[in-house]
Parts: sequence; structure tokens; C-alpha cells
Amino acid sequence: MNVAEIILPLPLPGTFSYYIPEELRPAIKPGLRVMVDFGKSKFLTGVIYALRNEPDVRTLRPIKELLDGQPILPEDMFPFLGWLGKYYMCTLGEVLKAALPSGFRLSSESTASLMGNVDTDQLILSEQEEWIVRYLQEKDFVVAQLAHVTGLKNITTRLKSLQERGVIQIIEKAKDKYVPKRESRIRLKEALAEETQLDELLIQLEKKPKQVDVIVNYLQLADVLTHIEKNAYGIRKKDLLDAPVSPSSLKTLIQKGVFEEWQATVDRFASAFNDTAPPPELSAAQELARDQVKRAFEEKNTVLLKGVTGSGKTAIFMDLIQEEANKGNRALYLLPEIALTTQIIQRFRKIFGNRFGVYHSRFSDNERVDVWKSCLQGKYDFVIGVRSSIFLPIPNLSLIIVDEEHETSYKQQDPAPRYNARDAAIYRASLTGANVLLSTATPSLESYKNALENKYGQVELTERYQNQPTPSFHLLNMAKERSKKSLKGSFASEMIAAIEEAKTAGKQILLFQNRRGYAPYLLCQNCGHSPKCPNCSVSLTYHIFHQQLKCHYCGYFESIPGQCESCGHTDLKAVGSGTEKIEEELAILMPDLKIQRMDLDSTRSKFAYQDIIDRFESKEIDVLVGTQMISKGLDFDDVTLVGVFDVDRQLHFPDFRSHERTFHLVTQVGGRSGRKNEQGKVLVQTNDPDQRLLRHIVNEDFETFYQEEIAERQKFKYPPFYRLIVITVRHRDKDVAYGAATQFGKSVRIHLSTRVSEVIEPVINRIRNLYRFQIIVRVEQGGIQLTGVKQLLLTSKDTLLALPAFKSVKVHFDVDPL
Ligand code: ADP
Ligand code: ZN
Repeated sequence: MNVAEIILPLPLPGTFSYYIPEELRPAIKPGLRVMVDFGKSKFLTGVIYALRNEPDVRTLRPIKELLDGQPILPEDMFPFLGWLGKYYMCTLGEVLKAALPSGFRLSSESTASLMGNVDTDQLILSEQEEWIVRYLQEKDFVVAQLAHVTGLKNITTRLKSLQERGVIQIIEKAKDKYVPKRESRIRLKEALAEETQLDELLIQLEKKPKQVDVIVNYLQLADVLTHIEKNAYGIRKKDLLDAPVSPSSLKTLIQKGVFEEWQATVDRFASAFNDTAPPPELSAAQELARDQVKRAFEEKNTVLLKGVTGSGKTAIFMDLIQEEANKGNRALYLLPEIALTTQIIQRFRKIFGNRFGVYHSRFSDNERVDVWKSCLQGKYDFVIGVRSSIFLPIPNLSLIIVDEEHETSYKQQDPAPRYNARDAAIYRASLTGANVLLSTATPSLESYKNALENKYGQVELTERYQNQPTPSFHLLNMAKERSKKSLKGSFASEMIAAIEEAKTAGKQILLFQNRRGYAPYLLCQNCGHSPKCPNCSVSLTYHIFHQQLKCHYCGYFESIPGQCESCGHTDLKAVGSGTEKIEEELAILMPDLKIQRMDLDSTRSKFAYQDIIDRFESKEIDVLVGTQMISKGLDFDDVTLVGVFDVDRQLHFPDFRSHERTFHLVTQVGGRSGRKNEQGKVLVQTNDPDQRLLRHIVNEDFETFYQEEIAERQKFKYPPFYRLIVITVRHRDKDVAYGAATQFGKSVRIHLSTRVSEVIEPVINRIRNLYRFQIIVRVEQGGIQLTGVKQLLLTSKDTLLALPAFKSVKVHFDVDPL
């Protein structure tokens, strides 16, 4: 084989052919990463897709470098990636980019820099590595430039090695990456940790008391003599030096290969690793549900577990995961979002120690590469992760659990692939015969319909663990209170009374306002003007904490204007309400309360969530005011009251799913209350308590909600009866964008007739200076072939972009939009 087909992380269709130089041929195989030239003076990391023979290779460029010894992408993942690209209408390169942790990618535009906390004198480096480090001590370098100035061959391999050892970091251009807190750790080289080896070593070192001292101190601190397995975690270098021991002796021992030093991310859960507790014993109801799930899997690959909040679904997952591990299989446990993962991971650590990996976007590139590699090596029994963990190469994967399957954060919005990890999980599982457990208190309409139609198995858990009563929901009539003038700012009087009552009883409170910032917008009281984002067609949100107006779409911000930019009047008023405002008003109304906000703004740093959760758990905080971040998964013992603000805005949001979302959100956030000991109370503020949907929520009547909603969906041709593909056309010039969308619509309507909508101008018609128009294609079930429709759309896009007038237009597809 002299030619390799390579997937490059580009939005271009197909794979790319490169010549394989003789010397690389023995080692080359699919799934390995390579470095290749692309375009002029650019190089990219790609993955070998296939090998073939070609008589004439004169036009092909050679592969520059082989980056791996073993495939990082097992060949059996290729069909899954291929399907994902086809289904979601994007290129294999785009799928690859989403699939691989970016730490695996290296392009000529990446920048290499020295890690701040590295003591370069202590490092043991090869000559070439030393050379690179010396350059980087001067300044950061773009990789291509570094290759040039050092004149070193195989520079990427060396950079990777330095990166893996925590000496340098490689940052992709135009992205500010989170730099994890790292520490140097020390451990004995694996073979030496054995008792006999140790004895021998100590005898050898008899004449070197300082070195013996280092080893003895290490053995004590790391507790390795009684628990040899603890050597793998080592101890902090700092702790060893503080013992104290001689730094130069330690250095000698590292050089001799007795100890190894490595950089580890500071792990807050590390202390919980060693002592594990037995898994929770299942209640009778849980045991029954688990057995039903197992029986359902005998007939169906996918099972929907519908269990009320607090029924202890997590305990069932633990049981199922353990059972797979006993059989030598592996599981993947998907969670929708990071806020959720922290508490659940702690619960799993207590029981499973370090038998599982954790994979989410807040981890650094290196950490994600580590988890990926550990998966390949089969180190974990299971992995807990968010959306992108659906791409992890887990061998013998037999069970995928999708927790809170209705969650919209399973869907990637931007960039392509715009995939839904829940649906992708079902496809991935079907390729290998694995099972999928979808779990939620409030199923998505799609999944529930599939369960009712027997496409999925279905199991229900209707009681909370230990028969804890489910919370009681109440609607508070804001319109009435407004006319009685009993409102206190954003708060109904009953809400205030309930907060006071809970506080007096020593209980805790969650307040849910699904909008961050202080207020949605500033309004001039004279002319009615409100400041807008210069790049997007939205009002700027008022943030009181930073005294700024911010755009939530593009990140633009400006300071608060002193006067109206339109009429010059100085009476500007903040209208509406966000988390900051709820927090501020409550602090004024009840100064004794300890209040904390939990939203995107207050949790930007890596451990902020965890800190807030810890402080709330230890009752340093009385009230947590938050966005949908507080709505799911959190489990606190002493929350008896949940307040929901602004439900009407959620309900009337112009989207066909707004009712479904409101049902999910309010039920989920309400489920955070009354988890231990006492019945919880959920107060929902609305201007119109007679709305049917709100009644269904209050009555916990999912069935009726489902029946009504599903009828609407059928009537108006929406999912789950029709599949939607949304085509978005974007351009700087509004007329060009509109013209292109019109042209596109016309060309596909010839074939698809009424399945194609008119051109729609979205509510937010400009984001980041690009005007947007949309066309919706509705594909009925069991009629026309979906794959044919997609092919037609892709061809029509190419035809459109080939027209000179539209060549700089951007067109993207969103299949099954959420
Ligand atoms: P869900 O995910 O269904 O909302 P959780 O799994 O969070 O429910 O369980 C709710 C609470 O009940 C948690 O505090 C959990 O620790 C506890 N719990 C559930 N099942 C058990 C069990 N079998 N043994 C001990 N505690 C349990
Ligand atoms: Zn903007």
C-alpha cells in the first residue's frame, strides 16, 4: 500500500490522498495520526482512514510524520463517524474535529509555550527537547515558526512529548484555553514498588543515607508499604520536599529512574479515591424497576426509564453498571451538563473510586487526551461524560445510559456536526448490539411516543425513594397581586412569606429565574429606545455587577450609558428581571439571608460550581438564585422551597417546543425540593394561573400534557411526526442573504413542493454582523426518503454557492433542530 486516505479536520467533503514514504509503510495503519502538508506552508494533523495502492503517485504529497504507535481511533468507530456525518449533513472532517479532543490536533497555527510552574533545571530532557525549551524560554512560538528556527525534524512528536509531560502547552489559535492548575507529583517507577525490588534498592543505596532518607519518607507519606496500589497516585513533590528531604538527592533518584515525576491536574476528589463504600442497597421499588429494565433489554435495545424526581434512578444505574463490569463489559454514562456532573461524580467516586473516567469540556486538552487514551487501553470500567463522550473509543461497550434524556444540551448547536448525543447513542449502540437506557422524570415527546408505540421498552418508577412525598406545586397570581399592590418588586407576597417560613425553620431555598444578568434591557422612559448590540439584532442585557450592557449572543459589551443615545434623556430604566435583580431585591427585602447566584456569570472558573455546591451543602448559603443550571440533578437534603419566576416568558417563547420545555424545566426544578424528611413546596409566579399547561404541571399530569401536546404537533406538522431540517443562510448584506435564501427555497421546492417553507426571518435576524434567513424542510415519516432529501439539499447548496452573486454566502443545515 503506497497511498493513505486521510481525514483532515476541515469542512471539505471526502478524504485526502497522500503518498506513504517507504520508511513509514511497515508501521502505517488506519486510525493513526499523521502530519501532512496542506495548502501552502500549512500543516495539519489528520487520521488515516484507509490504505490503498496506486500506480502513479507523482502528484501526491508525502506524509510528513507518523504521530502514533497505536491507532488513537479504532477502525470500528469509522462506521459510526461516517453515519454521523451523513445524518447531520456535514463532512467527515467536521465530525473528526468534534470527536477528537483538541489536544490530539496540532496545526501549524497552534502556539507552543512553556508552562508557568515548571522548573526547567529539574527536567530530564533529550538534546532536541532542551533545544526547544530554550527557544520557548525566550517567547511563545507558533509551531510552524518553531520548526523553522530550530530546524528540527519531527518537531511535532517532540512537542507532543513535552506537552504530555506538562512542560509545555500547545494552544490552538484564536481560542483562549483554560489552563488547569497542575502540580508535580512523585512516585516510584512501577517495577520498584514491589517489596523485593525495594529491599534490593535500599541495600544498594546503603552508602547514600540521604537518598535512603528520600525513599523512606516517600514510603511513609504515600503509604505504599501496606497498600502497594497507592504508588500509582504518588504524592505531591512539594510534600516530599517538605518532609524534609534533600532536593538534590531526589533529583538524583529521578535521574537514576528510581522515582518518576509527572504533572497532574490538581484533583479535588483525589482523597476520596482510596476508600470506597459499597453501592447503595436497592429498595424494593428500585429492584423491581431494575429487573424490568433488564427484562425489557431482552427484547429491545433501547429502554425508557421514566422515574419521578428523587426516585433514586442513580442507584439503579450504579447497579446496572456494576453488573456490566462483572461481565467484563463497559458502560458509558452520559449527563447533560457540567453543573450536574460534579455532584454525581462525587457520589460515584465514593463507591467506584477511580474505576471510571470523567470526560467533559471543562477539562484541559491534555486531560481529555489522557481520558481518551485510558479508554483505548481499557483502563476504566465505565466513563461518565457529557455530549462529546459519545465519541470515546470504549472497548466492549455494552450499555449507554442517557440521563435526563429530554435535555436540549445533548444537541450541539454550533459548529457542525449539529448532532444529538442521545440519538447518536442509539445509533452507536445499534452497531455493536449495546443497550441504551434513556432516563428522565419528564420524557421528551419523541422518546415517549417511541415507548408508547413499543419501539422502546418502558419502565416506570412512580414513587420517591423511601416514599418521600413528591413536592406540592402552587401557582401565585401576579396579576392579582399587582392590582392589590402587594407585589414587592419581582416577588409575590406569598413567595416572601414562604421564604421567611423556610428560613425560620432552618431550611434552604432555590429560586429559579431562567435569565442571567440584571434585567433584559434598559428602556428610555422618554422615547422608549433601548440600547441594542451593534453586531446582533438583540437588546443588550443590563449586568449590574460589572456595570455593563452585554450581548448574550456575541459577547459584545459596553459601559452603562448615562443618557439615552437616541433622545439624550437621562431617565433610563431597567425593564424585566434576571438573576442579578432577584438576588439584589431579595438582599434588600431580607438582609439576613445569605444569598448566592449560580449562573454562567458566577461560575466561569473551573471550580466555581463545586464551591457553590459545597457551600450550599454545608449550609453557608440559605438561598441559591440560578438559571437552568440549578434545575436538574442537584440533590440537597434541606431544600424545602423552590420559587419559579417569569414562567410566562418561558411559556410564550416563540418556538413550537416552548410548552414542552416549560413542563420539563418547572417539573425538574421543582423536583429539587423536599428530598429528605419533609414535603417540598414549589411556588410558580404567573400572570395567568388558568393556563392549561401550568395546571398540568401543578397536577403532575404528564399524560394529559403529552396527549394535548402530541395532538398539536401532529396538526401543525412538527416532530415527532415530521422530521425537520432547518437551513440557515447568512451574509453580511441583508439583501444578499435574503436573495440566496429565496433562490435556495425555489430550487428545492421544485422537488419537495410543500415540504419546503417560505423564507423565514428569525426573531433574532442578525448575529455577529451576519443577517440570517431560514427555510424549514418538513419530511413526513414513511413517505419520501430522508437520505434522498438530504442529498438534494446538499447538491442545491453547491449549485447556489457556485453562483457568483452568492459565493460568499454561508449555508448550514440543522437536522432535528432543538
Ligand atoms: P433521581 O435521580 O431519580 O432524581 P436520586 O438518584 O438523586 O434520584 O436519589 C434521590 C436521593 O435518594 C439521593 O439522595 C440518593 O442518595 C437517595 N437514594 C436513592 N436510592 C437510594 C438507595 N437505594 N439507598 C440509599 N439512598 C438512596
Ligand atoms: Zn451581539
